[in-house]
Amino acid sequence: MKIRPLKKEDYTDCVHLLNQSFDEKYISLEQLEKEILKNTLFYGAFEKSELIGCVGLLQKSEESYKIVRLAVHPNYRHKGYGEKLIAHAENTAILNGGTKMSLAFLVPNESLKNWYLNLGYEMEKTKKYKNTEKSICFAKKKLPKTPPYGGLNKRVPCCSQCGFPEKVCICKIHPKLASPNKFVIIMHPEEVGRTTNTGRLIKNAFPNNTEIFYWHRTTINYNLKKALKDNDYHKILVFPPDKEEYDHKAISRDMIKEISTDKNIMFIILDGTWKEARKILKKSSYLKDIQMLDLDIDFKTEYYLRRNKDLGHICTVEVAIELLKLVGESENAHELHKYFQSFLLRYDQGRRM
Ligand SMILES: [Zn+2]
Repeated sequence: MKIRPLKKEDYTDCVHLLNQSFDEKYISLEQLEKEILKNTLFYGAFEKSELIGCVGLLQKSEESYKIVRLAVHPNYRHKGYGEKLIAHAENTAILNGGTKMSLAFLVPNESLKNWYLNLGYEMEKTKKYKNTEKSICFAKKKLPKTPPYGGLNKRVPCCSQCGFPEKVCICKIHPKLASPNKFVIIMHPEEVGRTTNTGRLIKNAFPNNTEIFYWHRTTINYNLKKALKDNDYHKILVFPPDKEEYDHKAISRDMIKEISTDKNIMFIILDGTWKEARKILKKSSYLKDIQMLDLDIDFKTEYYLRRNKDLGHICTVEVAIELLKLVGESENAHELHKYFQSFLLRYDQGRRM
């Protein structure tokens, strides 16, 4: 099963799915398109290429979000798809700075109510629904600061935050570091919840000067937009400008050293696989004018959790370690490196339990 944003060609299937799940006249194509235009992000759950579930996420204010139009095809119910769609919507909200989630559903429906209670929702109030016997129940939930990661090992209890087995959890072993420079991590949606993700290690170690934003294909997160406008920092996008079209924006390691002596730097790092990072760069016009640094790595990565081990391909936290060295923060680089090594060790231990 794969969850991804709905594309225009999926809209008709989505309307069909919603009407099959509720009743025939639940929603029209026009209505769905209107909601998407009005800023509801819709995600679909796909089994092979068939749309079997969907969820809408509506931003109500800077920090509060609402789940709307959650549906799972009748043939695919009670298999965990609904939980996964809810988790996807919640994680998206968290990574966009959301702290609160709300939703509403028709009652009486005890099993649905219990289902939401199990997912951590609190029932707020019920209101009579139009001219029917039914009422709407409003529920809410306080979101955690970082998205929870899927369990690394199904045989033992795993930490609900990092996904590692509780005995080797990485949540509390991080160094507490500070830097005058800043990291802005733009995370590809596929990266969310991957236990192998290392971008989160930077945030854990530098909580006050790291911001993680979740990338979206067609919109830019409000807080990311704000962060990119911050002129207190010299902005550098870390990415090899290996194509001619990016050449004019290339900046060298030596130039970075020079800049860092009189201005703090905001390092913008794209967090995802090589392919995902390229996609982010290509599809995000707001990154077009930012100078680019090619770290030009000549050593082999220590990261063995994923396949891409080409020379020069290092993982996200290794990028940050290199950048810290570059701006003369060798002690910070050393501490972050030690944390990364503990992460790898604990990953290994966690898998074998
Ligand atoms: Zn943990």
